[in-house]
Amino acid sequence: MSEKKDYYEVLGVKREASKDEIKDAYRKLALQFHPDRNKSPEAEEKFKEISEAYAVLSDDQKRQTYDQLGHSGFDQRYSSEDIFRGADFDSVFRDMGFGDLFRTFFGGGDFSEQRNRGQDVGVNVEVTLEEAARGVEKEIEIPRTERCDTCGGSGAAPGTQARVCPRCGGSGQVQIQHKSAFGMLLQVASCPQCRGKGRLIETPCPTCRGSGLVRKRRKITVRVPPGIDDGFQLRLRGEGENVANNGEPGDLYVIVHVKQHLQFLREGDDLWYVAMITYPQAALGADIAVPTFEGQTTIKIHPGTQVGETITLRGKGMPRFRTYGKGDLNIRIGISVPDKLTGPQKALLEQLAKEFGTDVQKGHKFHL
Ligand SMILES: [Zn+2]
Ligand SMILES: [Zn+2]
Repeated sequence: MSEKKDYYEVLGVKREASKDEIKDAYRKLALQFHPDRNKSPEAEEKFKEISEAYAVLSDDQKRQTYDQLGHSGFDQRYSSEDIFRGADFDSVFRDMGFGDLFRTFFGGGDFSEQRNRGQDVGVNVEVTLEEAARGVEKEIEIPRTERCDTCGGSGAAPGTQARVCPRCGGSGQVQIQHKSAFGMLLQVASCPQCRGKGRLIETPCPTCRGSGLVRKRRKITVRVPPGIDDGFQLRLRGEGENVANNGEPGDLYVIVHVKQHLQFLREGDDLWYVAMITYPQAALGADIAVPTFEGQTTIKIHPGTQVGETITLRGKGMPRFRTYGKGDLNIRIGISVPDKLTGPQKALLEQLAKEFGTDVQKGHKFHL
């Protein structure tokens, strides 16, 4: 047998490295040498080497044994299967996106990750900006797979019972020997006789034909919280597709679309509104009414207000999503210019122009 490299050297960590440092070092190396990413012939061997080092050094007891006895003593106590047994590879690989591949590589592994879970369902819902400001309950209807009411999901006709599968004893799983890079390992597979159900149905339920599941259109009330922004996804746990064999249902994702408003423009938690006033109001000052989501309010236009000036009403914007407080309502001032004038209005404006010393077009005909 060839001389084995020191586990600490393999991972490139110091002997006093913390658990986190070891995990970190392994994560980096695994990214580099995972057989899915690295197709070179040495990668698999290297991956096995770093995985073994990690399996030992991430386990307090195995690490202690290795520190005291070194490779020779350690290998007398642990078989290669023992080394990998109970090692936490899952938390390392979960975030990296190749959990399943890793399991394939090792064969067998963690049961909980293979759990029987229904698919997630996505649905769009449209709300107005007012509804987004207040929060709203929306009723939606989705087609989904649900547990059959006739048989309660068992798949057996009412009055009959499913039989426990003799092959797997009801677990739905059988163990098979699996040859992997680490030697023979036990792999768990779905039972071929009951197809993983654990039970055999002799008289199938007439409604679901033994599947225990039916397809339904289901009405669901969705609470859209105040302050929600366009494109936000609400997750309704367990409201997705159901699966057979008492599996966990999937989740329902509601994608919220907030419609554009005719008067208000939204910018994060703030709202913008353009208030059109007349030239005399801008010049002389005025009190004008502006809309808010809490009803009309009056703002003061100071004498000499310019086009584009902004008046901010604090806390009159959108509620901050899932927290406290509200954004602002910004009112931008615009001047509305009449496109039709009465005779007296025209005469007064011409007089005003003269007073200002500005030249205006004379004799233009207005049609009223
Ligand atoms: Zn049924
Ligand atoms: Zn079975």
